[in-house]
Amino acid sequence: AKLRVGLLFGGCSGEHEVSLRSAQAIAEALQQSSGKYDLRPIYIHKDGRWQAGDLAEKVLAEATPPALMSAESEAASATNPSGELATTQNKVLERLRSSASIEGVDVWFPVLHGPNGEDGTIQGMLKLMQAPFVGSGVLGSAMGMDKLAMKMAFAQVGLPQVKYLPVLRHEVWSNPCVFPKLCDRIEEELGYPCFVKPANLGSSVGISKASTRAELETALDNAASYDRRLIVEAGISNPREVECAVLGNDQPKASVVGEISFQGDFYDYETKYTEGMADLTIPADLPAEVAQSIQDMAVRAFLAVDAAGLSRVDFFVESTGKVYINEINTMPGFTTTSMYPRLWAASGVSFSELVDRLVQLALEER
Ligand code: ATP
Ligand code: MG
Ligand code: MG
Ligand code: MG
Repeated sequence: AKLRVGLLFGGCSGEHEVSLRSAQAIAEALQQSSGKYDLRPIYIHKDGRWQAGDLAEKVLAEATPPALMSAESEAASATNPSGELATTQNKVLERLRSSASIEGVDVWFPVLHGPNGEDGTIQGMLKLMQAPFVGSGVLGSAMGMDKLAMKMAFAQVGLPQVKYLPVLRHEVWSNPCVFPKLCDRIEEELGYPCFVKPANLGSSVGISKASTRAELETALDNAASYDRRLIVEAGISNPREVECAVLGNDQPKASVVGEISFQGDFYDYETKYTEGMADLTIPADLPAEVAQSIQDMAVRAFLAVDAAGLSRVDFFVESTGKVYINEINTMPGFTTTSMYPRLWAASGVSFSELVDRLVQLALEER
């Protein structure tokens, strides 16, 4: 019998559009897998509603949110309102269990990036539904999403990282006496330039580089609008940015290392998602022992946060040659041109083999 794969995509996150493109590529690979899989696409609207049926198929085929679809497409999908699974989040579980389009899903593939998808929330729900799913579990997803928790886990296993300070939103917004002291402390301990980030996000959303007090204040205010938890990091000047893909469960393997190069100040949202603004070099031009140590660190980082299935681990290489770990992404971008599948392709695992392998890893006893 075919394995029924519930493909979850879209999501209540700033990385919604990226998810559509990742899911489209994964769906195509699943369908090409010689009839092994029965694909059940389920689209999660930006407001969190779940939807199966025609609309989900359509969003997947076009990789476009319904609001941006042509009026004609929308009218066509409106003829199947029964695809809507839940109107409020707290009805999701109850309705999911009894929903015909979800009944009998053998394995879930949550192709969701960022908050409400890559952070353990969906993973907790799938766990409650007692269904196997691709990727990290609750702990691994949550630890991998929160940059403060992630850094604590990395420090525990001795991974080299930049100096940083944790900040809470209330220090930025609620207390006018606290804010100047916070900025003083950042200047003393980290200096400029520094990077101000929401702790739980991705695709560089909400991240700024600050080189002056005024920029720091604006950056903190901006990051606080995205998350309660913030992190400020000492900036590395003009680092090389290299990434390593990890695949497996408790004995994960690392791919070759790849490098990203781009014009501009740092790898921001626009650079990430505008075609032609960034180039990938795979494998990266690095001495063999440096590449090897990056691969070792990638696996240690994966185990440190209790990731599973897949992760992309990102590093900075300073001009002195010193390597720092930047972060782990437990559901990295997965379009046909994304770094994660391209690193595996260069390591001998094709896109469709990779997707196949991930489904098998989800079914493995852990
Ligand atoms: P992703 O889309 O990979 O999940 P993200 O939103 O989690 O990214 P980061 O990887 O933490 O964000 O940072 C985004 C970019 O900002 C980096 O790729 C790099 O260009 C720049 N950057 C972040 N931190 C630093 C730092 N400490 N020093 C120098 N550059 C940095
Ligand atoms: Mg990230
Ligand atoms: Mg990310
Ligand atoms: Mg990153």
